[in-house]
Formats: sequence, C-alpha cells, structure tokens
Amino acid sequence: MDLSHWGWGYADKFLSREARMQLGDLAAAGLGFSPLGLDEPVSLDDVVLPDTVVNAPKTLLHLFDGTSEGRIRNTYGRAYRDILRGFRGDFASAPDLVAYPTSADEVRRVLDWASDAKVAVVPYGGGTSVVGGVECPRRDREEAGLNGVVAMNMARLDAVDEIDPRSRLARIGAGARGPALERKLGEHGLTLRHFPQSFEFSTLGGWIATRAGGHFATLYTHIDDLVASIEAVSPVGALKSWTLPGSGAGPSPDRFLLGSEGTLGAITAATVRVRPRPRYKASATAVFATFEAAAVAARMLVQSDLHPTNCRVLDPREAGLNGVDGAGRAVLIVGFESDDHPLEPWMSRALELVNDAGGACEAPVRYVAPGADGQRSSQGADTWRSAFIDAPYMQTNFVSMGIIIDTFETACTWSGFDALHADMIREVRDVMKRVAGRAFLSCRFTHVYPDGPAPYYTFACPARRGAELQQWAEIKAAASEVLMRHEATITHHHAVGRTHRPWYERQAPSVFLTALSAAKRALDPSGVMNPGALIPAATPPGGESAM
Ligand SMILES: Cc1cc2nc3c(=O)[nH]c(=O)nc-3n(C[C@H](O)[C@H](O)[C@H](O)COP(=O)(O)OP(=O)(O)OC[C@H]3O[C@@H](n4cnc5c(N)ncnc54)[C@H](O)[C@@H]3O)c2cc1C
Repeated sequence: MDLSHWGWGYADKFLSREARMQLGDLAAAGLGFSPLGLDEPVSLDDVVLPDTVVNAPKTLLHLFDGTSEGRIRNTYGRAYRDILRGFRGDFASAPDLVAYPTSADEVRRVLDWASDAKVAVVPYGGGTSVVGGVECPRRDREEAGLNGVVAMNMARLDAVDEIDPRSRLARIGAGARGPALERKLGEHGLTLRHFPQSFEFSTLGGWIATRAGGHFATLYTHIDDLVASIEAVSPVGALKSWTLPGSGAGPSPDRFLLGSEGTLGAITAATVRVRPRPRYKASATAVFATFEAAAVAARMLVQSDLHPTNCRVLDPREAGLNGVDGAGRAVLIVGFESDDHPLEPWMSRALELVNDAGGACEAPVRYVAPGADGQRSSQGADTWRSAFIDAPYMQTNFVSMGIIIDTFETACTWSGFDALHADMIREVRDVMKRVAGRAFLSCRFTHVYPDGPAPYYTFACPARRGAELQQWAEIKAAASEVLMRHEATITHHHAVGRTHRPWYERQAPSVFLTALSAAKRALDPSGVMNPGALIPAATPPGGESAM
C-alpha cells in the first residue's frame, strides 16, 4: 500500500469526495460547526520543487536519491502545518537530496562529507514529527551558513539483531518502525511495549531523539525508561554507551542523546529493555458527572501504587468526539496488564477508588486470561482504542474540508492543574472565536504521575482559506503562553523541534541552554546537524550562545 505524500499514513485512507461529505455531517455534530468546503490535494506529479543546490559526492553516489518523489517524501513531518502545506503542494522546504545509509560507517561518511561541504543533515526517522523536527527551511540553513540540506533517512538501519532473553534486552537499529520491531520481538515472545499513537510509522531512533511517550499511562511509558544503551555517530566521531541496568557514573551519555532531536548526531542503534508479552489483561470504563471528578479518580489511582497500565481521563467533549460516551459525561478508562499473574485484586481495589471519587462502571470489567479470547468488545476502552488509531486519518480528511484541527500537550502538578486548565479553556476558546468565529476544545489525560497529569488538548475551528497558518499560529501561541504563565512544560512528549523552540528557551534555565549550545559545538563544529531544531541555527562556532 502506498503512503500518502502529504497526509497521515496510507494514501487510500484519504476518503472519496462523497465519503468526506458524509464525514462533514459527522464533523458538524461532533465539533459544533460545519466544514466550509471540500478541496482536493495537489498530486505528487504536480508538485513544483525548488532547484537542488548541492550535488551528491561522487564516492557516495549510491547512497543518495535526488528524485522529486524522494525529496517530497522526506520534507515534512505530520503536524497540521505540514499536512496543510503538503495538501496544497507547497514543498518549499524540500531537502536537496536524501541519503539512505545502511550502516553506522556510511552515516559517518555522509557526516564527514556534509561537514566539509557545509551541508545541513536532518536525520529522518518515520517523519511523524509534529513540531517541525524534520523540516529544515531555507532560513535555518542560511542562518547556519550552510549551502544546502540533506535528509538522512534512517530506514535501512532497521535490524533487530541481538536478543538476550535472560537479561531481557534487544539491540535494534534506529530506523526500525514499531510494527516491524514488535514482529521480530514477538517471535521470541517479547515486546518493547512502547506504543505511541504514531507507532505504525515512527522509528526507534525517532522515539529516542524526541523522548517519545507510549500510550501506557503510568510507569515505563517514556522511551527514556526503556533504553539501556545508545549507539550514535556525531560529526566528530561515534558514541556508544555501555549496556547497563543502572549506573551512577556521572551524567548519563544516554540521557545526553535522549531528546537531542538530531542536533548532536544520528542515533544508529539502541539496546532496549524488553519484556514478555502480557497474558493477563483487565480493563474497565467508568463515567463521571464532571471532568474534575474523573481527574480526582485518576489522581487517587496513580497515587495508590497500583500502577495501572491505562488510566486515561476524557472530558465530555473528548468522550463524545471519540464515541466513548454520548451523554455529556467524563470517562475514565482504567486497565492492568501482566505476564505473570491474574489481575482481579488490582482491578477490584482500583474500582473502589473510582467509586470513592464518584465514578460508576456501567459495563462489566473485561478480563483476558491465557487461553481465553482477546476479542474486542464495545466497551469504552475498545471504542477509545479504535478512535485513537483512526484520529490521525480523521485530521488528514478534515484538512481537505477547511477545518483546522490539531493538538497540544503538557504536564503540570496536580496542585497546578485546575488553574492551568481553567485558563487554557478560556483563552484558547477566546482566541479561536476571534480568529475563526467558532471553537472546539477538548482535553484528556494521556499520562498520569503521582505528582501530576499530562493533559492533552484537541482544538478545532473553521479555516479561512489562505489564512490557515496565521490562524493556527495565533491559537498555538495563546496556548503556549498559558503554559508558560503556569510553568507547565511546553511539551510532555511531542518534543521541541522548531515549533516549540521559542517557549523551550523560556522554560529551560539559560545556563543550561548555553551548555547545550557548547555541547553541540563540540560534537558538530560545522553546525550541520539539523540546524534550527531545539537549538538556534545560528550558534556561532566557539562564540557566545545565540540563546
Ligand atoms: C498522529 C500522530 C500521533 C503521535 N503520537 C505520539 C505519541 O503518542 N507519543 C509521542 O511521543 N509522540 C507522538 N507523535 C509525535 C511523533 O510521532 C514522535 O515525536 C516520534 O517519536 C517521532 O518519530 P519518527 O521516527 O517519526 O521521527 P521523525 O519525525 O523522523 O524525527 C523526529 C525528530 O527526531 C530526529 N531523529 C529521527 N530519527 C533520528 C535518529 N535516528 N537519530 C537522530 N535523530 C533522529 C529528527 O531529526 C527530528 O528532529 C505523534 C505524531 C503524530 C503525527
């Protein structure tokens, strides 16, 4: 199946005109406003690209692709801005060339050439960034004093080659995508158990470079927790940390690369912590009169040390939009998993806490045990799961209908949440009404910690043709300003990229940012690695940080 060159996932998931017209009626019911029109995407053949300004080195020609299709498919991530521009056929930021290294040594040779030729290199995993992480616009490369841009697609570094069942470790190539690496681990009864919503198309290297969050709500959910060692190649040499269960030996080289977003080097492989596939599962769905009551239940659960694998709170709009509850109630989905033991005692105690917080389970708890079926039911948890997987396709279709639809996410303390949430709802709705006349805003918790939740907001409003990016920017800026005022993080798992950088620079201590720039200069003296993502493109060599 062909992948879309502009939207999420497979091209054939972009609906026909007739189906999109029907979807428009659903959108009107779910979002509260009707789509304004119906446009068609610019086809791959009709995209006009800027001229290429660099040539591949003669000795490495076999690694490079300079075709229009290759350049188009390695230009953007999959944020609203990316999908909109791709839909309209605007690929102004297309890289000059795409490199496909097959080994760490070939990565090194590409970086050597790029450093000499002063060409930017953007490591490209699955291209699912939602923060401008893989787009290197002309402005950034010029600020960095570079001559062109190469996307370094990591897809061919995808081996799952060393599995150590005794230590429960596996060495996996950075370019391996979720389904392929899970398939391979599955042959050994193992799983990495890292399932971001973008799982199908994103890569291990991308997860590490962005500190991705999986969909499990508590405990080991960030890829950070699953990484035992990392192999990377920087422009000045290779880095390979030891594979250790823990270490107190100074600052961690793995932590240094986690979240580095392609700015310090290319991650080529990692050894990750794997585990047996769960054989026991339990899930329940509880409804609450208010979002606030459901949030209290989530806090009680996460502070109980029961460690549910799922503990997802949906506000009434989110529950309605995803077909989980249509009665204007908030929903909490709670789940447990184990390879080792039945889960009834954990679930029973969890439901006592849910009841104490005012929640009610209208359907029986669903238990899966070895030998029993794993069939899906119509329970909230399963309805939610399907909606969760389909949501990105929905966004792609909505873009063609003149709807701005996007998400932003954060994390804050439990004590800070109520005030943050109230401000967020008020200000983001206000700005949407001002720029678009109508507003849809919903919230869910994607992750919960004993000290606070990670709220995740979905916003939607009508687009004005030609003004969409400006409308989007005003909404995004308003939301980000609310986060800064409440000292909530600019991102819990979407990463910094280029989109969040202005706010990241306000969140992180300035001395730390100076040290980060200095580290980049040490590893990447020519400033070729993904200039403008995370760290300003114009970081003067050996001089003061531009931050
Ligand atoms: C629909 C949708 C759902 C999403 N859901 C989630 C979610 O549940 N959780 C979550 O955390 N994120 C989510 N994201 C964001 C995105 O999927 C993650 O940031 C993911 O980790 C990116 O992986 P990737 O392989 O696609 O990386 P890319 O998008 O290709 O790259 C992302 C960044 O990492 C760098 N990079 C990529 N590979 C390497 C490498 N090998 N070495 C060095 N740098 C590298 C790139 O240069 C870029 O800066 C979602 C995005 C979409 C579009």
